Amino acid sequence: MANYLKRPQGTEDVTPERIAKWYTVEKVTRDVAESFGFSEIRIPTFEVTELFQRSVGETTDVVQKEMYSVIARETQFTLRPEGTAGTIRAMLQNGMLAEALPQKVYYQLSCFRHERPQAGRLREFHQFGIEMAGAASPYADAEVILLAKTVLERLGVRDIVLNLNSIGCPKCRAAYQNALKAYFEPHKAALCETCQERLVRNPMRLLDCKSPEDQAIAKDAPLILDYLCEECSAHFEAVKSALTGMGVEYVINPKIVRGLDYYTKTVFEFITTSIGAQGTVCAGGRYDGLIEQLGGQSVPALGFGMGLERLILTMEQQECAFMEQKKCDVYLAPMDDAARPKALQYANALREMGVRAEFDLLDRSFKSQMKYANKLGTRYLVVLGSNELEQGSGQLKNMETGKQSPVRLDSAAHFCEDYTEISLTDSLGTIG
Ligand code: ATP
Ligand code: MG
Repeated sequence: MANYLKRPQGTEDVTPERIAKWYTVEKVTRDVAESFGFSEIRIPTFEVTELFQRSVGETTDVVQKEMYSVIARETQFTLRPEGTAGTIRAMLQNGMLAEALPQKVYYQLSCFRHERPQAGRLREFHQFGIEMAGAASPYADAEVILLAKTVLERLGVRDIVLNLNSIGCPKCRAAYQNALKAYFEPHKAALCETCQERLVRNPMRLLDCKSPEDQAIAKDAPLILDYLCEECSAHFEAVKSALTGMGVEYVINPKIVRGLDYYTKTVFEFITTSIGAQGTVCAGGRYDGLIEQLGGQSVPALGFGMGLERLILTMEQQECAFMEQKKCDVYLAPMDDAARPKALQYANALREMGVRAEFDLLDRSFKSQMKYANKLGTRYLVVLGSNELEQGSGQLKNMETGKQSPVRLDSAAHFCEDYTEISLTDSLGTIG
């Protein structure tokens, strides 16, 4: 196949066959976010590159290796690798932080990262995410975590563990980074190339390395939880007890440091073992310094990003239920040229009532129309032949039960009336 006919590596098509899966996760995430009082925000697909350098952080994999950037008319732009930076930028630019706080927004958007494509790791992927700005309370952390958990529960996802940690504030982290440097320094030569650099610039990121050799070296590294200052420690205790109070189970995982630079205090991931190595379905935490770092006032913030491809993959693995694929309600089968204008007219009258109606557009024979109607999975079928139209009446066939019911075909209005009556009786019949 010619190259231009292949989608770029690490991207996906969502064909109509799969679209109901996306509708399911889009609907549930939206409904849950709105029930927690979050409103949708939409931001551009690309931003000025410097926004990500300043927020995501210069020492992160994302900024160092994964960004898709272009220079267009002398300005450097980057396709968003995540949603937080653009959302905070939009909050600042639109004066949202001067309004009543907290500001609570959610988004469903595509992200772009140049990574090695594999199951659950794409170059264009989608996130559902939320951002809350202006709330320093540990109850805000608990709410954000609870929102993610509610989404997962509502979708029927099982075997997913909430991993919780605190990475403190810049105050407690300084001492910790030094302890890490001292620990890793003797192992320096054995570390991967990236980690050797991390050791100099941001040793905490070493804990995030995916290489098994480096993970083995990191096994006995000092733990951030032993270095938390009083304030961070009290905050973490309060988050944990709020979660426990809500019956939310978690494990403390001191190795969770998050890949992006802007995190402070609480960090968390929801991890499943159902989809192999890329098991983090949702990741987030608090980033109290980010807004100020971007040039805004000092406003605490927090949120998470949920990978929708990984979520759907997990649901498929676990055979969770998805919304039903939309089907055709009525298929009209015209038998000749004279019947086609009628088919068009009746189909349209049905559509005006909100009924999904289709009719043959390929001048097919009776037999192949029946085959096509079956493939569509239509609920009802009506044949419009010359006899039926002459007599002004025909049969509406229920394709599930095979039952035929007489319908008037002398006018679209009469037909619609009869259809309404029959479909109503049928659905009452199924419920009763
Ligand atoms: P990982 O450690 O798996 O690389 P990350 O720390 O880079 O993840 P975040 O930046 O926190 O990921 O993004 C939030 C979520 O978005 C992840 O937990 C994951 O579900 C999803 N995600 C991140 N990168 C990808 C990707 N390349 N393809 C698909 N989903 C992704
Ligand atoms: Mg990553």
